[in-house]
Amino acid sequence: MKLHEYQSKALFQEYGIPIPQGRVAETSREAGAIAAELGGTVVVKAQVHVGGRGKAGGVKVARDAAAAERHAQAILGMNIKGLTVEKVLIDEAADIQQEIYLAITNDRSAGQPLLMTSMQGGMDIEELNRTRPDAIIREHIDPILGLQPYQMTYIASAMRLPRAHWRSFLKILSGLYACYNKSDAELAEINPLVITGAGALLAVDGKVIIDDNALYRQPALTAQRDSSDEPESERLAREAGITYIKLEGQIGCMVNGAGLAMTTMDMTKLYGEAHGIGPANFLDIGGGATPEQVATALSIILSDANVKAVLFNIFGGITRCDEVARGILTAYNAVQPEVPMVIRLQGTNAAEGKKIISEAQLPHLISAETLTEAAQRAVAAVQESA
Ligand code: GDP
Ligand code: MN
Repeated sequence: MKLHEYQSKALFQEYGIPIPQGRVAETSREAGAIAAELGGTVVVKAQVHVGGRGKAGGVKVARDAAAAERHAQAILGMNIKGLTVEKVLIDEAADIQQEIYLAITNDRSAGQPLLMTSMQGGMDIEELNRTRPDAIIREHIDPILGLQPYQMTYIASAMRLPRAHWRSFLKILSGLYACYNKSDAELAEINPLVITGAGALLAVDGKVIIDDNALYRQPALTAQRDSSDEPESERLAREAGITYIKLEGQIGCMVNGAGLAMTTMDMTKLYGEAHGIGPANFLDIGGGATPEQVATALSIILSDANVKAVLFNIFGGITRCDEVARGILTAYNAVQPEVPMVIRLQGTNAAEGKKIISEAQLPHLISAETLTEAAQRAVAAVQESA
């Protein structure tokens, strides 16, 4: 889950990282009032979940409240990389002498957090990595030991940070690591961390991404979610505890277990690819899914107009096939689907499940014993619908 810049910086402040004074506005009038209150030059910044807002015209410096109001007027409602700006942050402008890049992220291949920093801050890290890879200092952090003092002095020295700033920089490094760690973040990035004319360090931009799998123990951060740029179907799935990712194919896949869901997608692709047919989604209803969850999952799958057939591939372990079968009937009655549904039930209570389905005598239901058969039948059903 991504936090907005203003949320990320408020979080940084809790960990002792200095940030500019500022507040968020949803109207240009409010933006003007905040600017008047702050006094002096301010920056008006679009709050959307994408980088490179500056280049896209979403970050503007304003010399007074009237200018701030005008800039807010232009930025609110602006479309940046497909997202509509609904909020702007009004920050006291910083007198920037130097822009530093500083981030901690998950390095999955190393199995450790990775700290990256550079005196060539401001621009995005992929570009910096392409043009000046040597200008980035990288240091892995042992998650058991944490960020050690010797590592921090190594980093400051390797990046050639002037000595005058070491004290505050080291405080920011340990603050950022604590923030990353305690927030279950996948990324905690300050770009730029600036050195001001007065010689102070200030986090001018912030970006934090929280690991979705840890949200259950981060209630305060979860409450800050902004779903406005999330597809409706993915939001509904998330709220029902279902993992759903929309894809471009025609076969809606309803599966329990992530590995089985991947296999099911592979199989529909294997038999469908030659005919331009493939999976319409990844969906994992998880272990022990209730009939209500199955019904919700089915309506989410069917909300995609590309779907021409649904493939249920259920392996009953914790999930009981009879429960899933009841879920399918509940879903069937609620959604009244027009598309054929191929059903494969195996494992715990499979016989009971199959009995429930066959006794219901619903139209458009096709049962299958093996996954090969199920995938072939789903592909054939899509071909027939064309
Ligand atoms: P991003 O483009 O989405 O990464 O947004 P940033 O907040 O990083 O702003 C982009 C650029 O605008 C920064 O790299 C700075 O050069 C400039 N900028 C942002 N805030 C200020 C400020 O307070 N004062 C000045 N002079 N420039 C700023
Ligand atoms: Mn930035």
